Amino acid sequence: MRAAVFEKPGEKFRIREVPTPAPGRGQLLIRVKRCGICGSDLHMTDSHSCFHPASGAIIGHEFSGEVVALGEGVGPEWREGQRITALPYQGCGRCARCLSGEPVWCSEVRSMPSGRAQGAFAEYTLVGAAESLRLPDSLSWEEGAMVEPVAVGLHAVSLARFTPGARVLVVGAGSVGLTVAACARAAGAGPVCVTARTDRRASLARWMGATEFLLNDDQLAANFARVAGGPPEVIFECVGLTGMLDLCARLAAPRATVVVLGACMQQERMMPILPTMKELRLQFALCYSRRDFETALFMIERGYIDPLLLHTDTVDLTRFPDAFEALRQPGAQCKVLLDPGR
Ligand SMILES: [Zn+2]
Ligand SMILES: [Zn+2]
Repeated sequence: MRAAVFEKPGEKFRIREVPTPAPGRGQLLIRVKRCGICGSDLHMTDSHSCFHPASGAIIGHEFSGEVVALGEGVGPEWREGQRITALPYQGCGRCARCLSGEPVWCSEVRSMPSGRAQGAFAEYTLVGAAESLRLPDSLSWEEGAMVEPVAVGLHAVSLARFTPGARVLVVGAGSVGLTVAACARAAGAGPVCVTARTDRRASLARWMGATEFLLNDDQLAANFARVAGGPPEVIFECVGLTGMLDLCARLAAPRATVVVLGACMQQERMMPILPTMKELRLQFALCYSRRDFETALFMIERGYIDPLLLHTDTVDLTRFPDAFEALRQPGAQCKVLLDPGR
């Protein structure tokens, strides 16, 4: 099969012929239909990253696909031809973490985002049957590949534990920030403001459900208070660059919650007295549970959230390496999907 192979940080992916994997016990082999490029893929493969995949790894963790082969021990509910998405983690299937639908915390986890299990920037990939979800016929392959990013948003919102009507600020207007804004709105937040350095995504933020878009400049605190009626009670940090935690601490209301989704992979400096003076709750967020995936699927199917608003381009494997590199610079693209079968 053909796959986009990671060489080393700062270098483009290479499209190579690699062996098609065979499904092991409890696994499904899927033909990948779409796989989204995530901000964490960009961070991880950046030359500054301290956390990059091994050379030769295949990453990609936001996908939909069609079941083409079943491994041993897979239950009778699975058949060839089924349309699925899956959590990009495969756990042991026996421990408490796996049984509660959170394989990411399993001590034997194999992770696609890190490249320790083969990811979906390829024609085929393997998923755990226990981690897979059937896609309803009404959902497109594109929507199927967007279940994962929506689950990220839902998980972050559930960790924030806010009360209905809370004043919410989302820092960052990338696909994570915009998805979080949509999920916060759906979960009963009051004003939900998205902020970014440029207003390129202002309309998109409003389409996704933000009540307001604000420029991230030195007037941000004043502008937020003006439109929301006070400082933010919940802040979602969705940028992942140094200096962001300090910014959130400065903007937050006393006893606010800061949920950190931005995958910052550089040393961060912050002044601890700031969050202390406000008794802030700093909550880091990683991934999702199977339950978050189920809720994301339900919300997309019922129209509570339309992640396709974020989808700006689909590329084949040949165009993939350049399209991936182009996302490192700000531009018109938001969510770019790979269609490896094209
Ligand atoms: Zn992702
Ligand atoms: Zn386990």
